[in-house]
Amino acid sequence: MLNGTGHDLGTALVVVLAALVGAAFAIPMQIQKPGSPPGQPQPTPAPQPDPAVELSVFNAAPGYEWSLTRAIEAWNTSGVRVHLYLAHEAGADITVTIASSSPCGSDPDVAACTGLGHSGPRTIWIVQRLDRFDEAGVLVHELGHILGLKHDTSGGCAAMTPSLWENCDPPPPGEWRCRLLAPADSERAIRILGGAARPATGAVFCRTGEFAS
Ligand SMILES: [Zn+2]
Repeated sequence: MLNGTGHDLGTALVVVLAALVGAAFAIPMQIQKPGSPPGQPQPTPAPQPDPAVELSVFNAAPGYEWSLTRAIEAWNTSGVRVHLYLAHEAGADITVTIASSSPCGSDPDVAACTGLGHSGPRTIWIVQRLDRFDEAGVLVHELGHILGLKHDTSGGCAAMTPSLWENCDPPPPGEWRCRLLAPADSERAIRILGGAARPATGAVFCRTGEFAS
C-alpha cells in the first residue's frame, strides 16, 4: 500500500545518508594540518608519562599541620607517581581528623587508622595524640595505606611496619627521624602507582629545635 507513511520513511532515510556523507568529508579536513601534503603520515607524538595520582588533603586536626606537611613532602619527593596537596576545605580526597578510639578498634596502642587504597574519600583518624615528630611518622604511615600499602616488616627500618619505627634505631637525644620513608616504602608504592625510585637525600635525623614552628 502506498501511503504517506511510506513516503515519509524514504525521505527520512535519505536525510540520514546525506548527513553521514557530509561527516565523511568533514572529518579529514578538520584533522589535516595546514600545509601538509595530503597523504603524508603525521609524526607520532612522543609517549607522555602517565600523570601522577592527585590527592587533596584537608587537615581537620588542630596542631598537626606541621606533621602532615612533613608526611606529604615525604611522599611527594619519594619518586612514587603521586602528588598530595593540602586543601583548605572539607570534601577533600583525604581528611585528617582527631577522633575517639572508636573508629580504630579497641587496641589501646593504636595511634591512628584509615582505609586501604584511594578508591574513595578517606579519613585518617588520629586516636592517640603524639608529639609532632612522631605524628609525622604516623601520618606518613597512614598516607601509605591510602596509597595501597599494607603493613610490612621485611624492609628493615621503614614507615609501613605495624608499630611506629619498630625496626629503627632511636634518634640521638634532641633529634628526630626526619627521613620519614625508607627505600622499601617507596619501592612498594611504585609497584602499585608507578614512578621511579629516587635516592634518599638529606639527613636521617634532624634536630628537634630547628623545627619548633
Ligand atoms: Zn598501619
